[in-house]
Amino acid sequence: MSEDVSRYLRNIPSMDKILSLEWVQDYYPMIGRKAVKSLIESVLDDWRLSMLSGEIKEVDIERLMSDVKRTLEKSSKKSMRPVINATGVIVHTNLGRSCLADEAIAAVHDASRCYTNLEYDLEAGKRGHRYDHVEWLLCQLTGAEAALVVNNNASAVLMCLTALASDGEIIISRGELIEIGESFRIPDIMALSGAKMVEVGTTNRTHLYDYERAITEETRLILKVHPSNYRIVGFHSEVGREDLTNLAHSRGLLVMEDLGSGTLVDLSTYELKGEPTIGQCIKDGVDIVTFSGDKLLGGPQIGGIVGKKDIISKLKKHPMLRALRVDKMTLAALEATLRIYLREEHSKIPTLAMLMADPKDLKMRAANLANSLRESLRSEEGWNIDVIEVKDVVGGGAFPDDELSGFGVAIAPPEEIGPSKFAAFLRQLEPSVIANVDQERVILHVRTMRPGEDDLLISKAETWRNI
Ligand SMILES: *Cc1c(COP(=O)(O)O)cnc(C)c1O
Repeated sequence: MSEDVSRYLRNIPSMDKILSLEWVQDYYPMIGRKAVKSLIESVLDDWRLSMLSGEIKEVDIERLMSDVKRTLEKSSKKSMRPVINATGVIVHTNLGRSCLADEAIAAVHDASRCYTNLEYDLEAGKRGHRYDHVEWLLCQLTGAEAALVVNNNASAVLMCLTALASDGEIIISRGELIEIGESFRIPDIMALSGAKMVEVGTTNRTHLYDYERAITEETRLILKVHPSNYRIVGFHSEVGREDLTNLAHSRGLLVMEDLGSGTLVDLSTYELKGEPTIGQCIKDGVDIVTFSGDKLLGGPQIGGIVGKKDIISKLKKHPMLRALRVDKMTLAALEATLRIYLREEHSKIPTLAMLMADPKDLKMRAANLANSLRESLRSEEGWNIDVIEVKDVVGGGAFPDDELSGFGVAIAPPEEIGPSKFAAFLRQLEPSVIANVDQERVILHVRTMRPGEDDLLISKAETWRNI
């Protein structure tokens, strides 16, 4: 180490000195003295390293202190915070997928506040089963004989493949060997289950005889997977569900379908076609269907498994279930959500309400929002605000071909600000606003904004002028 560097290193203020500053001590009540100290330590370490590597030549106390302040400030804010989803993507995985219905939120609150009969049979006064609270509801809503829920759909698929086929072969079409985002790949899950994957057909076409020829003594299961975000168009064919289940059952085999998003209600009246409901798959003879709870279903994160009673019984005894089990808050939210479906009050489920929103209402909302924003963000000051038609999407891998006609507010900030800087500014607000940017404008899609969020934006817009 050169003499200069060691001299400059000594110029870094001591921990005691920094801790004696009043504005530093202001963070004690928020995150505790210990955390304040170790965060400062990490900032000082970074400075020492940069000096040793020659990246920084001199200690600029002001900059160092502003590093300290930024680090403390960031850590004292809650990390996971509400955001306003103005992207028009309804099931947005990065933004937490589905917002829960009010009744589901209340149920979570109750279940977390006090003890519950989670695993207690109140009539018999002895141990009960955690899955009983939702099993009959899932059966009622899908027509399945039995049901089970686990942590998420990825774990549902893994558990089913492991429990039903780890000692044998699983047949799957090459057109369905998909990867969805977030590192979920069918071949990897298959490998993890221990089953041998037998691929049939080609990427674009698979015929019934492809499946038929692949059946051996070792075959346990035929797996069908919803292709999610991926579509094969043009010269393409796949085997229909009924043909597949007839074939499998005539050979004493099971058919399992990973439906991905999965929906309990037929959405074909809302510009959305081509997705079977979970109930339809059961009707077509599929033995076991898996789906997510927080995609189109609009509930908490779970993996639903519905199907034949003997298979579900087998799954209930599998040791993996204990590792993948859902907690009481999740079950409370799921039960409340499913009860809304039972009463067919679909518009109480935010995900479905957004999906079913009438474009006329969206247009009106966008017009109101634009008008009110114009009062704060004036055209004389370089702001330009328009109502525009937009395309919204379902997200979560469901209905990737279908776009929903929606409306949005396009905000062009003054030239010296520009859309990227404005979008970054909106992300820093509390709550953050997440919006898309096109060449000149930031677009707020109203469909995915929650009730009340329009007014929240309007009430704050005055401050946006001071970016
Ligand atoms: C989303 C999806 C999954 C994963 O579901 P998670 O609930 O995110 O675990 C699995 N398979 C398909 C086809 C999907 O679309």
